[in-house]
This record gives sequence, C-alpha cells and structure tokens, in this order.
Amino acid sequence: MLSTFIIILCFTLLVFLLGVGLSLAAHKFNVTPKDPMQHLVEKCLPGVQCGQCGYVGCAEYANAIILENAPINLCTPGGDTTIKAIADVMNCPIPESKDSSLDEEKLAFIDKTKCIGCGKCAKICPYDAIEGKIKSPYEVQKQYCTGCQKCVNSCPTKCITMQLVAPTTDTWHWQISNKTEEKKDE
Ligand code: SF4
Ligand code: SF4
Ligand code: SF4
Repeated sequence: MLSTFIIILCFTLLVFLLGVGLSLAAHKFNVTPKDPMQHLVEKCLPGVQCGQCGYVGCAEYANAIILENAPINLCTPGGDTTIKAIADVMNCPIPESKDSSLDEEKLAFIDKTKCIGCGKCAKICPYDAIEGKIKSPYEVQKQYCTGCQKCVNSCPTKCITMQLVAPTTDTWHWQISNKTEEKKDE
C-alpha cells in the first residue's frame, strides 16, 4: 500500500517538474504558436532565406505580411508565381511586380578569367544553377538562375556579378499585374 502511494507521489512530482521545465523553456526561447495564416503564406515562399525581401528570412517575411501588412511582392526569387500564390492565400489583389517597368532581369554571371574553380558558389546556390569542375572555371546555367544573389558574396575572387539580361524563351515569364488581371476580366 505504502509503495503504491510512493509510486503515485513520484509520478505526480515528475509530471509537475516536467510542466515547470516546459514552461521555463517556452519563456526562455520565446516560443509562441504560429498563426495558421503565417504558416500558409510561408509555404508559398521559396525558402531560400536570402533576405532580399528586407527581412531576415522567409518566416519573418511571412510574419510581416500577416502582422504588419507588408507588401506581398517583395520576394525576388519567388517572382510572379509566389506573388500569385500569396494573393490566393490572402484573398487580396495582385500588386504590380517590383520592377514591372523592366523587361530585363538580373542573373548571375561568372567571369571565367578570374574564376579559380573553388566550387563555393555552386555549393551555396539553392537552385543548383552553377556547374563546373574543381580547379576549372564554373558557369551559371541561366535557365535555372532566379537572380537571388546568394552566390555573389561566396566567391573569394569576386568574379560573380549580377547582370541585366534580355529575356529568352528559357528565362522569360509572365509579368502578373492588376492590368493583366483586368484584361482577363474584359
Ligand atoms: S526574398 Fe524570398 S526567398 Fe529570400 S528571404 Fe525573402 S521571402 Fe525568403
Ligand atoms: S543568383 Fe547565384 S545563387 Fe541565386 S540562383 Fe542564380 S546562380 Fe544561384
Ligand atoms: S566561388 Fe568564384 S572562384 Fe569559386 S568557383 Fe565560384 S565563381 Fe569560381
């Protein structure tokens, strides 16, 4: 009888200590449940974590869209597809693209005369858009490059630059804007 009482007491104490521990951890690490809408918006983003939107990463940008009414067209790597996906989730109009006045876009370019073939850029590219062999000049496969700029600072010889390129059948994509949506409705 006494042993059963001791077992129940120990179990209760253990559950109590576990509860206190979890509560302290939540307080220390500032754990707050994610807004379901933030989760849905984050799923629309490419997850490159490049910071071009002006926020630390994709989760922070999703958070700003939901809580701070941030514009939904700030993610360069995601492009028009991402803008449209977020607009669908938020049930809001599609704004003009950031550079809708431009028909050209910036893609990465490697100066082969300066490339030492270290491969750092290929490792960091989230889209596997850079190819090459170690100790030979690397090359950007333009059809896969989204212009996210993550590779630029990875190069020890500073031979990667972002350059404007005229669209080709490989790189061209629809510029989604309110105007095109209005035309569709006509
Ligand atoms: S620009 Fe897009 S991919 Fe880059 S951190 Fe912001 S949301 Fe993520
Ligand atoms: S800009 Fe650089 S890192 Fe980004 S997709 Fe193009 S090659 Fe890859
Ligand atoms: S990081 Fe620079 S030097 Fe190294 S392979 Fe890439 S382009 Fe060449």
